[in-house]
Amino acid sequence: MINIEVIQGDITKLKVDAIVNAANCSLLGGGGVDGAIHRAAGPELLQACIPLKGCETGHAKITPGFKLPAKFVIHTPGPVYRDGQHGEPALLESCYKSCLALAEENNCETVAFPAISTGVYGYPWKEATEIAVNTVHDYPARNIKKVIFCCFSAQMKKIYQEVLQRV
Ligand code: ADP
Repeated sequence: MINIEVIQGDITKLKVDAIVNAANCSLLGGGGVDGAIHRAAGPELLQACIPLKGCETGHAKITPGFKLPAKFVIHTPGPVYRDGQHGEPALLESCYKSCLALAEENNCETVAFPAISTGVYGYPWKEATEIAVNTVHDYPARNIKKVIFCCFSAQMKKIYQEVLQRV
């Protein structure tokens, strides 16, 4: 079973095998965590993303981490939250599963996730956290030993801790 840890911090600082980027479908950079990751990784990251030709919502693609302490970046576009009736939960679950599958394929033992879709994409925090925690908890891991949920705010960290207590 995967060991789950919750921290508050900046995901670009983490020395793990892979960090996950809450990207958009273009994979060409954006605001929020995506912008922070591109800035910290350096311009080579964009050069590596261009030939990937984008990514569908709920899927994931991998690149090296370049100047980041992390070896890899796994890019996944989360769903834009409308009302929860447009497949958002299944798409968000698919983001986590696709990232974990890519991490496994690339022999990653440690993976850090930001709270996908909870920024400009507007996913309600508690619902998003329940999907994140349950999907990682239920994942049949082979190589992955540890997942870090890297929360940007103390408020988000508290929600993760509350949800984790119940699994
Ligand atoms: P999305 O478009 O998927 O909503 P955002 O980047 O807007 O993506 O936000 C996703 C989450 O990442 C939010 O909870 C936001 O607070 C958080 N975040 C922003 N910058 C960082 C960072 N440097 N490290 C970790 N989390 C971050």
